[in-house]
Amino acid sequence: MMLDYHSLLLALGVSAACLMVTLFGTWFSRRTDSFLLTLVVALGLTVSGIFIYSSYTLEAGLVGASFAYVFLMAGFSTIYSASVQFRTGIRPWRLAAVLSVVNMALGLPLMASGLDGLGFIAMNLAAALLLTGTARQYWLARPEAPGPLGGMAALYTISGFSFALCAAVLISNRQWVLGHAPDNWAETLNIGVCIAGMTGIGALSLALHQWRMAAHHRRDAMTDALTGLLNRRALFEQHGHRILGSSTAVIVFDIDRFKSINDQHGHASGDLVLKIFAEDLVKGAGAKRPHAIARLGGEEFVVILDNVLSGRAERIANDISRSFAAREIRIGEASLRCTVSAGIAMGAAGGQSFETVLSLADNALYEAKRAGRDRVEVAGYLRPVDLNDTRTSA
Ligand code: GH3
Ligand code: MG
Ligand code: MG
Repeated sequence: MMLDYHSLLLALGVSAACLMVTLFGTWFSRRTDSFLLTLVVALGLTVSGIFIYSSYTLEAGLVGASFAYVFLMAGFSTIYSASVQFRTGIRPWRLAAVLSVVNMALGLPLMASGLDGLGFIAMNLAAALLLTGTARQYWLARPEAPGPLGGMAALYTISGFSFALCAAVLISNRQWVLGHAPDNWAETLNIGVCIAGMTGIGALSLALHQWRMAAHHRRDAMTDALTGLLNRRALFEQHGHRILGSSTAVIVFDIDRFKSINDQHGHASGDLVLKIFAEDLVKGAGAKRPHAIARLGGEEFVVILDNVLSGRAERIANDISRSFAAREIRIGEASLRCTVSAGIAMGAAGGQSFETVLSLADNALYEAKRAGRDRVEVAGYLRPVDLNDTRTSA
């Protein structure tokens, strides 16, 4: 005995419409996570399909069945495309259009020609494939937010399975021609699963969006906006409490006579020089898997290198300085060259606090400036007194 199928369909349509409005509001307030907008469009198509289908259940006709087919297939194709967009960032509209057209080409001729049973089988199978495909996308993206994404993958899988059941029942009953909406236990189960699944998926999509925004803000707070390197706060948060051994080097770079670049060419040109130096820094130190590359502030940068000897750190610093000095930086008509000075300090065999090593590197940098700039200085070995100091204070 069927529970009032028509009312269940209406309930599903109304709750999908509410979810659509919620997701749209969420997307509209920020306009960053555009996969939400794709979901809104997908829900719009699906809701239309559901309402057309529900009126078709009251008054059967091939036109109604065909229109329901078109909207539901477009809706599910777009749901799948939203998941691909979420995982890969690609624009969803082409994929959604291609999938919709393929699905219509496969099933619509059946539906329109009166083989509506076969048409519904095609529709249910396509829905099952698209929903399990959607589940797979969220499952693959799971490292980003394991909780919400794992939950979404599970709900999409269950929903997809309930559509496959609908197809299986029609096939086992050999109902190739129906003349009305299919009604059997699988259809009722399917509606129930869809209502529950959609509510869950809606809540999880919102959670996912919040998760992304929070991660975005965390990243922003740690990044120097001009160069994309770690900022001072991030450097100290991540390395401030470290004790550095004798194979860890801290290199401090400071661009030479940077103030005069600003004075002669303007602040924007100064910014450009900073960006270019940051690129050289990443290129020069990046291949050596540095522990950190940060902009300390102004025109001062820090690189932390693990598993290096002092000689190697010195070579890396020299390479970076040389490639930067060799650059001709074009600013409009003019072009300029600049140099950089660096100071290097190593951790100690017994361990040395990051801040101590950083200030030793700073002293070495000061020596490099005093000795005429455009050079790299290595801090002298620590005297035993210094070592004892830090051990007792640690
Ligand atoms: P030295 O060779 O001794 O290092 O001389 P300097 O001119 O490089 O050193 P100083 O510390 O006197 O000047 C640093 C200048 O960097 C001063 C400041 O106006 C400029 N500055 C700091 N932050 C920024 C920035 O974000 N953008 C630009 N364009 N300039 C900055
Ligand atoms: Mg400087
Ligand atoms: Mg400076």
